[in-house]
Amino acid sequence: MKETTKKKLDYSINLLRKSEALALRYDPNGGFCLAFSGGKDSQALYHVAKLAGVKFHAFFSPTSVDPPLLIRFIRRQYPDVEFMKLTTNIWEMAKKKRILPTMIRRWCCAEFKEIYGAGKVTLIGIRREESARRAKRNEVEVSSRKFSENFDQFSEHEEEMVTCVSGKDKILLSPILTWTEGDVWDFLNSEGIPHCELYDQGYKRIGCIMCPMSTTRQKLREMEEYPHVLRKWCQTIEWLDEHVWKYNEKIENITLRDRVHWWISGLSLEEYRQAYMSPTLFSKEEMGEDKIEKLIKAAFNGAK
Ligand code: SF4
Repeated sequence: MKETTKKKLDYSINLLRKSEALALRYDPNGGFCLAFSGGKDSQALYHVAKLAGVKFHAFFSPTSVDPPLLIRFIRRQYPDVEFMKLTTNIWEMAKKKRILPTMIRRWCCAEFKEIYGAGKVTLIGIRREESARRAKRNEVEVSSRKFSENFDQFSEHEEEMVTCVSGKDKILLSPILTWTEGDVWDFLNSEGIPHCELYDQGYKRIGCIMCPMSTTRQKLREMEEYPHVLRKWCQTIEWLDEHVWKYNEKIENITLRDRVHWWISGLSLEEYRQAYMSPTLFSKEEMGEDKIEKLIKAAFNGAK
């Protein structure tokens, strides 16, 4: 393992060890909650926690759009990870909310992924390098963002903090916040830890199928590989069109193909309209008029 990775690993182990007492104060039986996704970052988090020897309980929150290969990988490699119960699916939730999940309104994470761990210390595998938003995150945060600092600053104010952590609040601890993608792979490979096959198939990011946080290119690939998911989203879009959007004159009269195209573009409706006029904003593949049309047809033709 590289020296730089080793240093970060030591720091993360130390952070986990010194914060364990806090986790045990909130949950004497379980210790930390560990939000496990099966992706490389949460694998690194899980194995760092094992090396630190701290008490934790790892759980996976399904969303109904989880890649089957990922589920099989978690069940096979991490039998101790608890699978939380799914009480509804993402399409029904979209109808209930009357909106599709988007990069800006990522309600699905809040509804499916972030509902566990209230009143406890939850370990999360986010890294600053991942996005501009995550670059601003801190090692310890109270979920309602009443507090965001490093662990030592948290300890100084713990007395006041404890009163904040009630009801749905949770303390989020990010032990691999400063790790780079290279550090994560260096650690996993040096420790001989197997990863999900999806990475070997070229996926850079694994998680929900057609996640609004993925690139347009990845979403197009998933539309092809998981036609049933595309079909369900098309049916949801048609439902929203019929029950919600047709009353909104700003977004009426748009075809299903255009709606899907807009949604996977990750743009706001206004940005999308402008981009549509300017072909340079989309690559040929992303613009993919024919491609999207064909994928939608295939998704419905293959319907059982
Ligand atoms: S689709 Fe993406 S944003 Fe939504 S729950 Fe899954 S990972 Fe989170």
